[in-house]
Amino acid sequence: MLEISKRLTSYSPNERLRRELEKARAELHELEARHRELKQAAKDLELQDKAVEERLKRLQKDLYGGKVVNPREVEAIEHEIESLKKQRGEMDLQLLELWERLPEAEQALENPRQRLEELEAKFAEAEEKLGAERAVLEEEYSKLAAARPKFLEGVSQTLLARYEAIRQRQGGIGMAEATKEGLCGACGTTLPRTAIENAKLGQVATCQECHRIIYATEGAI
Ligand SMILES: [Zn+2]
Repeated sequence: MLEISKRLTSYSPNERLRRELEKARAELHELEARHRELKQAAKDLELQDKAVEERLKRLQKDLYGGKVVNPREVEAIEHEIESLKKQRGEMDLQLLELWERLPEAEQALENPRQRLEELEAKFAEAEEKLGAERAVLEEEYSKLAAARPKFLEGVSQTLLARYEAIRQRQGGIGMAEATKEGLCGACGTTLPRTAIENAKLGQVATCQECHRIIYATEGAI
């Protein structure tokens, strides 16, 4: 019964798979974030490029439309046009580079995406199987738990209260079976022979270490 309880609480054979799944998920998220950043950077650059283009058009219109005649102003505008053209040239280069990198970044998502899907399916299957195993264990446990009051029939109220107190303190298990080797089945402490003898006789015996009530079957020493 302790064995089952232990297995129910610590039984997680899918832990490795779950960790693998989480890792794959994190890796994909990182790649996706990188891809998104590239896309956003390209979009920002395109907008900037457009703004510069419009500014250039306006300046050229001012310049060649005869609106500006003051030589100093003309010079200033020519200067700005030149610097804007240079800026645009640089932005166009950057944009080309981004456009080149984007399909690559998108393709880099394919394999991790597929792997994640596979892992997710594998994990779901393993969890389902585990759920079924767990259900069997739980049923076994509840059967044993149901049999417990029978064992405690005829036990005094004081002892019962003591049993309940121990049970609550010891994570739900207030009894321990004496093993064939004469050890406490819960904590593994060697039990005194008298304790085992008493337990066999149906008398109250407790483990000196964990204070659980000891019961002994024929197999015990
Ligand atoms: Zn013990």
